[in-house]
Parts: sequence; C-alpha cells; structure tokens
Amino acid sequence: MMFTNKQFTNKIRADFPILNQEIYCKPLIYLDNGATTQKPKQVIDAVSKFYSETNSNIHRGVHFLSEKSTLHYENARETVRQFVNANSTKEIIFTKGTTDAINLIANTFGEKYIKEGDEILISEMEHHSNIVPWQMVCERKNATLKIIPFNDKGELIFEEFEKLLSKKTKIVAVTHISNSLGTINPIKKIIEKAHKLNVPVLIDAAQSIQHFKTDVQELDCDFLVFSGHKIYAETGIGILYGKEKLLEALPPYQGGGDMIKTVDFEKTTYADLPLKYEAGTSNYVGAISLGVAIDYLQDIGFDDIIKYEKELLDYATKKLSSIKGLRLIGTAKNKASVISFILENIHNYDAGTLLDKMGIAVRTGTHCCQPVMKHFGIAGTIRASFAFYNTFEEIDKLHDAIIRIQKLF
Ligand code: PMP
Repeated sequence: MMFTNKQFTNKIRADFPILNQEIYCKPLIYLDNGATTQKPKQVIDAVSKFYSETNSNIHRGVHFLSEKSTLHYENARETVRQFVNANSTKEIIFTKGTTDAINLIANTFGEKYIKEGDEILISEMEHHSNIVPWQMVCERKNATLKIIPFNDKGELIFEEFEKLLSKKTKIVAVTHISNSLGTINPIKKIIEKAHKLNVPVLIDAAQSIQHFKTDVQELDCDFLVFSGHKIYAETGIGILYGKEKLLEALPPYQGGGDMIKTVDFEKTTYADLPLKYEAGTSNYVGAISLGVAIDYLQDIGFDDIIKYEKELLDYATKKLSSIKGLRLIGTAKNKASVISFILENIHNYDAGTLLDKMGIAVRTGTHCCQPVMKHFGIAGTIRASFAFYNTFEEIDKLHDAIIRIQKLF
C-alpha cells in the first residue's frame, strides 16, 4: 500500500487521534516530530488494555498477573532485538530514553576506561545529551573532549575526524542524524575508521531509528541509543544497545532491586545482562508500548515509510527554498525529513508564535544544540520535522503561512 494513495494516508491519519483537532479554529498541522512523535491508537489502546487487564510489577511475583506482565515486557525486548537485529536480548537494555542511555555509558565506560590525558571524540552537531555527559566524564577524569567540525552545509568534515582520531581516543560518540540540521552522518564509515584503532563507537539514533532501518550487526556499532517517544511509543522509555562483551566488562551503573543476584552486607553480586542495568521498577508499560509501536511500523512497512518521508522532504525543501528571505540552515546532501530555517528580520520565536496561531506546530530555538547555532552565528532556527502521517497539503499550508508572516512584518 502506498502513501500517495489518499485513502491510505487518511487511514494512517485516523490511527492518530490527536491529529484530528483544531488549534485556534484551524486544523492542527503537527510538524514537531523531531521533538516527539504522536501515538497511534494501537499504542494508546494497548497501554489502556494493559492497565485494565494485566498490570503488575515485573520480575517480582509468582502470581498470574506478575508473570503475564513479565512476559509482555520480555516479549517487547525481543521485538526490539529483532527490530535492530541485535545478537541477543542481553544486548537490549531498557532505559528512560536516549539521554539516560548515554549517561549510562558515559558513567560506566568513563569509570572503567577513561583516565587523565585520554580523549573522547564527539561532533559539533551533537544534541546536548551527547555532549554534557561526556564533558562531565572529562572533568572528573582530566580527559579532553575533542570535536569533529562540520562545514557550512552541516556535513561532518571526515578528514578532520581522521585527523582527530588517535591512540589517545577512547570512544567516539556521534549522532546518526542531526536533530537541528537533518544531516545524515556516514556512521558506517566512522565506525570502520574508529575500529581500525580499536576505538568503540556510540551512535545516537534518537533521530534515525524512526526514519531508517537500523541493523546494529551490519553497522558493527558498539553502542546505539534511542528514545521510545520519538518512535511513536510512550515517553520515559528508551533503549541502550551494547555489544554483549562490552556491556559484560563494564561496571554496574545504578544500584537497587532487579540488578542484583544476591545482597549481603559484606558483598553484593550483580544480575546478568540485561537486568544488570535495569535497577528498580523499570518503565515496563513504556517498554510494552515500544514493542507495540515497532509492530505497528512494521505492519505499515518501513520501506514505504522511508520512501514517503523522502518525498515529503524533497517537496518541502523545494517549496520553502523558493521563499525569498528564507534561509535554510542545514543543506547537507544527505538529509532526513527535518528542515531548519531562519527568516530575514523575523525572530524565530515570533515566527513560531504566529505559525502556532495558524494551527501549525513547529519547534523554534536552539533545539538543544547551542554549538550548532554558534557555528552559524544565529540565535536559533524554526524547525519543521516530518513524520509519515504528514501530507503535502500541510507543507503547502506551511509555505503559505510563512509568506503571510513575512507580509505582516
Ligand atoms: N539526541 C538527539 C539527536 C535528539 O534529537 C534528542 C531529543 N531531541 C536526544 C538526543 C535526547 O533525547 P531524550 O530527550 O528523549 O532523552
């Protein structure tokens, strides 16, 4: 089934009840999918059904509901494993989200392997979540954070990456897709290059997992992280994928229930993977919602989603580029369905506020990427980020709304 078929697109949109509403008497046009995606009724219903029929804490009891809850939770782990093609469910850790997963690795990897004089390599286009945890490790350990720069199109400069990579580098952490520029980074090439020096690589897949097929074995990444709420599941759940051998060697992170084998005041022993990293009552309902969201996407067909989102991006790029006084920020050759722009003589907040009054939800500001804004010498951008439930008509309306705003100024 294809998205160009209007009936099919309408059917998809009907799965997302939130889209069917008016904001300030205008039909809602939701173009803030980079910040969070809306939830299909399949996910909403599954969560409601779970609470109505099954809810009980996992890994705790022998009673019927607890066992059923545990089964749902572990089935969701298996769904994620298959989805990213990990070798084993031991490699799939449920976290609170991308930020939590990066902090987990920064802390445990930092604790074990980073020492004075070492270097951690990230890029200039990282989200604050993939900057600050590493900066904190560097401060604690007297290590240095090194930055791979990007060019004015928003493309990482690979030769600079090659120059920065050295025997001092202990880990590389880069985003697959930039949330502020839309750039798709050549992560396979980055991983291959880093591995030549035996340097492990963490991939921030927060903006790619919902747009591309991800195969961790094919990529050969060492760690990969993402958030459920950006892939049509609930908030407060995320994934850390890590190669079993590496996770096995790292120390535990948070202590508490579920992450232990035995506790004694003299000595505690820790649970095997993946529970070693799941201290306390995890967001098991969120995990279940993630499994349902992945099933939902796979039912629609990832190939069709990818193709349609590319068409949306190309259409929007052409349409918005034609507006005088609009400058695209992030013009990389390889881009995902994210468009950042600024308007001449109009502050991004003013534009965002006016677009909102026209029913159009976009993101404005720095997008948690202050170094990106610094690179371009701008205060922030207006960002439209598309999902497969968006339409060409919505892009037309965004275009017309921008022209109206320019006329108002
Ligand atoms: N990395 C990237 C590239 C992101 O876009 C985001 C969310 N905007 C994050 C990390 C952080 O994700 P979360 O807030 O879900 O932890």
